[in-house]
Amino acid sequence: MTKKQLPDHLHLDTLAVRTAVDKSQYGENSEALYLTSSFVQPDAATAARRFAGEEEGYTYSRFGNPTVTGMEQRLAALEGTETCIGTSSGMAAIMLMCMGLLKAGDHVICSQSVFGSTIKLIGGEFAKFGVESSFVSQTDVGEWKAAVKPNTKLLFAETPTNPLTDVCDIRALADVAHAAGALLAVDNCFCSPALQQPVKLGADLIIHSGTKYLDGQGRVIAGALCTTKKLIDEKFMPVMRSAGLTLSAFNAWVVLKGMETLSIRMKAQSDNALQLASWLEAQPQVARVYYPGLASHPQHALAMQQQCGIGGAVVSFDVKAGDPTQARERAFHVIDSTQVCSITTNLGDTKTTICHPASTSHGRITELQRQAAGIGQGLIRVAVGLENMEDLKADLARGLDTLS
Ligand SMILES: *Cc1c(COP(=O)(O)O)cnc(C)c1O
Repeated sequence: MTKKQLPDHLHLDTLAVRTAVDKSQYGENSEALYLTSSFVQPDAATAARRFAGEEEGYTYSRFGNPTVTGMEQRLAALEGTETCIGTSSGMAAIMLMCMGLLKAGDHVICSQSVFGSTIKLIGGEFAKFGVESSFVSQTDVGEWKAAVKPNTKLLFAETPTNPLTDVCDIRALADVAHAAGALLAVDNCFCSPALQQPVKLGADLIIHSGTKYLDGQGRVIAGALCTTKKLIDEKFMPVMRSAGLTLSAFNAWVVLKGMETLSIRMKAQSDNALQLASWLEAQPQVARVYYPGLASHPQHALAMQQQCGIGGAVVSFDVKAGDPTQARERAFHVIDSTQVCSITTNLGDTKTTICHPASTSHGRITELQRQAAGIGQGLIRVAVGLENMEDLKADLARGLDTLS
């Protein structure tokens, strides 16, 4: 079936539903799902050329699959990058990036507030192979600059962070990276390309956990690395072919369809989050609210400029309490009093999720590290979904209003 050529310069909402609609001979309107591990070759000579990389054509789904290609093309279109590689998870995308770019003796600078598994992977696992790393302040560009060494190859940032929503200046970090002859990677999970396109601010590589807002309905684990065609061809495809970090066709299809509603979900969920954050700020039992869309947020102005004027859908808050033991009891009471929210650490779902970071996502670091990161026992994180806000406020009020 011949494909209609899309016009140039389409908007993000159009690209999200119209990019990469590759039709089979039946002309289906929804994207096809190719559940196959391998592809039949027309003849031995063609197979030889395809395996040698001299001719385009699918051979084996670890190397490529049309449904995965569709997801990659759509995400690249939304991020504004030349291309993208789908991976089995967000962590697999970070693994691929590090394997492709780093060797023993190289140095990485990473925000100390990135996703916990990222810190363990770069600071722990890659240290075993002789990769050095420095972990610096999320918001102090001076610290990033001071950490640069002659062997620095990569700067890695995530913004806003989990769970405190600290925002870093992508453009400033890109300048630091490029002045050092290094690349800047940004984990764009929390905003998604609907709110923030880091390549437009100078970033070289974008990391995604498709598990979060791209799927958007909490169904699959998936990931992606978006960057230039040159880097993908030279650095990442060789690793991909041998390392088996492959995204499954089914999960790619779920994410591909999820992206069609990404922009509308991000806006609606962020709108809900702003309402919830403003309401929480007015509650007498709440000590502090962390949300980039609030004027009280320390990087509010930067966030508004960097994220299309939208704060995102994750809100955290501290319940008022005397000491850490009481803080934990009070946070648990608020969480356990909810009847609508799901008690789970995932985020990016249409269903609002609630969790206690100090005992779950950040439960395995020491109390001292937690205090340094500002993650107290009274902290609650809410990843706001699509429910009606009056119902969500009432759900949190149940616990807040009955604190002893
Ligand atoms: C969830 C998450 C990841 C890891 O993604 P998985 O799909 O769980 O492997 C990485 N970065 C951020 C910011 C995340 O929220």
